[in-house]
Amino acid sequence: MIVTTTKLFKCAYGKYAIGAYNINNLEQTVGLFRGCLDSKAPFILQFSQGARKYTDKLFLEAIVRAADQVYPEAIFAVHLDHGDEATCYDCIDSGFYSSVMIDASHFPFDEKAALAQEGGPLDKNGKPGGTKEDARLYNNIAITRRVADRAHAKGISVEAELGQLGGVEEHVVGTVKLTNPAEAKDFVTRSGCDSLAVAIGTSHGAFKFKAEPGKKLGLHFEVVTEIKKLLPGFPMVLHGSSSVPKSEVDRINAAGGKIKDSSGVPEEDLAKAGKMGVCKVNIDTDGRLVWTRVHRELFRDMPEKFDLRDFGKPFIAEYAKMIAGKNQMLGSAGHLEEVRAALKKA
Ligand SMILES: [Zn+2]
Repeated sequence: MIVTTTKLFKCAYGKYAIGAYNINNLEQTVGLFRGCLDSKAPFILQFSQGARKYTDKLFLEAIVRAADQVYPEAIFAVHLDHGDEATCYDCIDSGFYSSVMIDASHFPFDEKAALAQEGGPLDKNGKPGGTKEDARLYNNIAITRRVADRAHAKGISVEAELGQLGGVEEHVVGTVKLTNPAEAKDFVTRSGCDSLAVAIGTSHGAFKFKAEPGKKLGLHFEVVTEIKKLLPGFPMVLHGSSSVPKSEVDRINAAGGKIKDSSGVPEEDLAKAGKMGVCKVNIDTDGRLVWTRVHRELFRDMPEKFDLRDFGKPFIAEYAKMIAGKNQMLGSAGHLEEVRAALKKA
């Protein structure tokens, strides 16, 4: 059953975080549903812009509609991950999505900041050389406000981003800049967003933390605590929250892979964040690692095989196992029936 993201957040706030998993194909989708049902967890299924373009968004949406029929007991929301303004509108108008993320975090904070920016305002493509009118239209608050107004008219909620996560996103290459809590409050109030991706030290991709002497590894919980104080009850979101287990990377490399110096977010940090108002934790990289490990090992160990299903079946099982483990860690495992009961009451 596809439900609104807002409803899931209401159930989860302050108790646990809901896993938000990026999906690209059928095998991942089946593994996701099985893993979430095995662990009895509500979940968020999300598509990036890249996933929507990989084959065609219609294929992805059809796979999810089918999964909803095949697994009628599942409770989940469908979310657009890191959308630009045009993609957000496409998803809002499609009627299929529970929520969208507008990522305008690479634009100046507001009109004033856009005008004051060195090199002047950005144009609608985020390139320097914009006009005064661009400063008014293309800043993080104005863009998020437009998307929120249009989404809310259709009962869809909006995630926005403030501050800059490290690592590589699909159209944002950022260096880590922690979210400023006072700015977060101002941003939420003025933009009308329903949840906020906060930068507290997580980053995208497989290379998250660099161990440096004297530098603290892990997440900046003081930022979460402060935002919670300023915006009580407001859901926070963590991006780039894969754990990138060393054992997984070692197995990939032992089977011919070349993934170097990778590191992820400590799992105990994510569990803690879930109790502090972080309602959604995005996990993508760990899923990619499972796919790569399973296929590399099977290609190595079963060189005589050439049936797609001989590789797909073990992948689905391993992906489901990984998902169930994540839900245990985030605390969402075991809450499915409680969420179902809450939905019935509402
Ligand atoms: Zn992200």
